[in-house]
Amino acid sequence: MESKRLKKIPEKVIIPLKQHLGTICKPIVKKGDHVLIGQKIGESVSYCSSDVHSSVCGEVTSIEEYPNPNGNKVLSVIINTTDSQETVPFVPKKNPSQKDLIAIMQDAGIVEHYGAPTHTVLKPEGKKIDLVLINATASEWIGGKYATPKEYASQMIAALKLLMKASEAVKGAIIIRKDDKESIDAFEGVQVDGKALRVAPILGTRRLGHYFKDQNTNIVVASQQRIYGKNILNFFTYNVTGRKVSVGCNPTDVGVAVCGVKSAKALYDAVHEGKPYYETVITLEGTVDCPQFMLVRIGTPFKDILEGCNFNGEIGKIIANGVITGVAQYTNEVPVTKGTTRITLQTKEEVIRDESLACIHCARCVDACPVSLIPSRLSVLADQGRFDECRQMHIQFCIECGRCAFVCPSKIHILQLIRYAKNAIEGAYEDAAPKESSNLKIGCSCGSE
Ligand code: SF4
Ligand code: SF4
Repeated sequence: MESKRLKKIPEKVIIPLKQHLGTICKPIVKKGDHVLIGQKIGESVSYCSSDVHSSVCGEVTSIEEYPNPNGNKVLSVIINTTDSQETVPFVPKKNPSQKDLIAIMQDAGIVEHYGAPTHTVLKPEGKKIDLVLINATASEWIGGKYATPKEYASQMIAALKLLMKASEAVKGAIIIRKDDKESIDAFEGVQVDGKALRVAPILGTRRLGHYFKDQNTNIVVASQQRIYGKNILNFFTYNVTGRKVSVGCNPTDVGVAVCGVKSAKALYDAVHEGKPYYETVITLEGTVDCPQFMLVRIGTPFKDILEGCNFNGEIGKIIANGVITGVAQYTNEVPVTKGTTRITLQTKEEVIRDESLACIHCARCVDACPVSLIPSRLSVLADQGRFDECRQMHIQFCIECGRCAFVCPSKIHILQLIRYAKNAIEGAYEDAAPKESSNLKIGCSCGSE
């Protein structure tokens, strides 16, 4: 499905100086300055940070703390826009070296939607990456800026090669969803180093390692079921590679860099067009009569996006980044950031305000849990503050997908209770050694690809 550009230029944009995990950027503009599209306005002060750029032409009116979709206030550059579409000169980079690519990523402000600056995922300090994954399972972003599906596929392969070069990894893979027929058709037959590509299904213990050998190649495109949730990285990595990531660690600890479609595309654009990361594609969903995918400038207030669509009814709730794991917004003044993937609108009637009832022990939550936890028990223990017992039951492996709460007929706030316990445990066991679970459901080939 093709994405449409938000036509109206917002009167003002709010560009947070921290749209990533790590250190906040230092503002390099001041009140009264005139800025152009793509101009750097915030600069990294450490390796774990990523620059920010203006998405409009206009005048900086203030630099102040402003509401952010993550629920906090973040120091942001506020710009009153003009109609001009003048950009700073975009200079493509010819044949960049590995070190150049890392610098390009930080300079172009490329970050993962889950927050990590992409260059820190590819070159984490003190760790070596040997496999790069592009997780395209949560993305139907086949429209976007691509003329055809095949162009999408070939650009993704080119982006994967750039990511592999930047990380010095020898192998790379793109993971798509097994029911995403559009993407499967797009990748099937694409030429990689003179060979026609075949999309390989991840089935049980037939993981990437099997297909690297079977296809005798260093680049594979594989399909699997969609995994969604807030903390899916470790589970996703295990599912496609068989490498177990201990609690408190992330995929880079087992030599895997997981990137998204958006950051891969942003790197491709930064290298081939010299463009920094100042616009993004979001999904707009709910009771709306407007394009599902929208290309918007980073910093655009939610209210400008909502004005551009016909909402049938009175808005009861605005949610950033998904109904199950996202954050309900208390104001429509919050801006789109690099971490915004979707905006969901609910009518007043749709907003569920049911009271929780007692657990009827139906075990639907147990059946629904993709990582074989016992959500009904965990929620009771969390509610009673019995965090040690939650920990013994591997609560830290919850990927916060929310399926348990979704299927619960008693409307118990299972996910909130689990998050509450996880936060308490993280605080209490900060110094604890990483621990492996024997509780993961899928596969058994520990440590193998
Ligand atoms: S406990 Fe609930 S939220 Fe956590 S992984 Fe299982 S189903 Fe998902
Ligand atoms: S789905 Fe709800 S009611 Fe059923 S066992 Fe789980 S917590 Fe209890």
